Amino acid sequence: MRTPLMAGNWKMFKTPAETCAFFEAFRPLVQAAAHCEIVICPPFPDLAAAVDGARGTRIQIGAQNLYWAKEGAFTGEVSGPMIRASGATHVIVGHSERRQYFGETDATVLKRTIAALEAGLTPIVCVGELLEHREAGKTESVLCDQCRHGIIELDAQQFARIVVAYEPVWAIGTGKTATPEIAAAAHAIIRREMRSRYGAGAAENLRILYGGSVKPDNAKSLMAQPEIDGVLVGGASLDPKSFAAIVNYLP
Ligand code: PEP
Repeated sequence: MRTPLMAGNWKMFKTPAETCAFFEAFRPLVQAAAHCEIVICPPFPDLAAAVDGARGTRIQIGAQNLYWAKEGAFTGEVSGPMIRASGATHVIVGHSERRQYFGETDATVLKRTIAALEAGLTPIVCVGELLEHREAGKTESVLCDQCRHGIIELDAQQFARIVVAYEPVWAIGTGKTATPEIAAAAHAIIRREMRSRYGAGAAENLRILYGGSVKPDNAKSLMAQPEIDGVLVGGASLDPKSFAAIVNYLP
């Protein structure tokens, strides 16, 4: 039985003061949510305020990226041990915006994932196809390639500690959600790929989140798919009421 994980990716939004205000409003709304894990990933400067805001609750905090060296002359970068020391427990790796705008590749995704695990963080590793891939019938091969080059170099112990997020790029921030069936089919491709490398048991235990225009009104139908183990939410995670409605998707 996989515990659902409901994660929010704030992208480059909110100041520390806005982060405090979010948690003031969000905490009481999810107080009773024992059916899932909740992770909020703010920008780096908000991590401390978010860790403070989540203290004493079941809400966990994650970063949105990390560099693979532990420390050094890498101006502008932030390492896994630094993120862990801030009190965060998770980190998003390989988000499509990092791949699209900042030169992220499957090889760097793998390096960051290993660095996150070494720092004691849970990496949420993102994969997903572009619209042109889907239209050309290449979704399966793109997902398998991303898994083969970005994930399955991990050993079994490392693999047991990661979360994967399937985020079709055409659905991110566009209002076009993949139907629950499309998302579930993609999750099944990813799980099959993992089964062939890590075996049935380990693949069954892997949590695969769906991300791409998740909103309060579609969270329940997405979560009704047995293959969908949670969501990674961008825009709708910025508002405490709308993210709480997603977290509380149960009837
Ligand atoms: C995301 O940023 O990971 C995302 C899925 O964004 P949105 O929910 O806004 O589509």
